Amino acid sequence: MTSPTENAIKTLEAIADRFFRITLRSQPKSSTSHDAKSITRLVETNCLAVLEPKSAKAVRFVERCRLFLSYDMKGMERSQVEAIVNELFSHLDGLFFFGLLGRQVSVFGGETRPLVKVEFLTKVDPNNAGSFNKFRGAISICLVSPTGLVPVSDLLFIFIHEMVHAWLEIFSDANHPEHYQWVKVYHRHGEMFRRLFRFVAERVGALVPSDLLQGRILVWLNKLDWQVRRNSGWWDCFVSAVTL
Ligand SMILES: [Zn+2]
Repeated sequence: MTSPTENAIKTLEAIADRFFRITLRSQPKSSTSHDAKSITRLVETNCLAVLEPKSAKAVRFVERCRLFLSYDMKGMERSQVEAIVNELFSHLDGLFFFGLLGRQVSVFGGETRPLVKVEFLTKVDPNNAGSFNKFRGAISICLVSPTGLVPVSDLLFIFIHEMVHAWLEIFSDANHPEHYQWVKVYHRHGEMFRRLFRFVAERVGALVPSDLLQGRILVWLNKLDWQVRRNSGWWDCFVSAVTL
């Protein structure tokens, strides 16, 4: 017999597997509720970072994070930073999102691709720290700021921000009556977005004790509050992201 959690994950796997194969409007009804609140709670109560914080995967993430945070960005090549972000994606996906964001899914023509791709913007653009495009299934991350390469401590939280967008926008039931308030309001920073971003950021801070990370978590949570109060887009945060 399968548990409610296994059933919930099966539903999400089915959504992932058909994501690029049928139009969004014709998705069949799922056996398990997957509204934004349910899938937020699923992460909060059943992700690996919560159930097995001492697992080999969690320990590896902590080791690698500590190493990345010790790097001096001034001496780094962009390709090294890209490798770090790709590795962080894999760790965070496994620890918080059941490996579903990086799941290999088929597209028309029989080929496969990760459900969510990671792309890098390499030009200085003060209007764009990162974004998630649902229809292309792609997270874009800007690696450079007007003051140089974006520090790993900020890339981590920009990336978590975009992964939470991907999680809620791909998997949550857009027909649920609360969907607008939970996901779409405030330029897609609704109640469940804020709750899940805070949860993942704080859990990463608990796994990787570091004064630097604790400081950046507060900065990024404050940015999100400020962004919501102003009802502004994500890009408005970026200028202060590199100066705070
Ligand atoms: Zn956002």
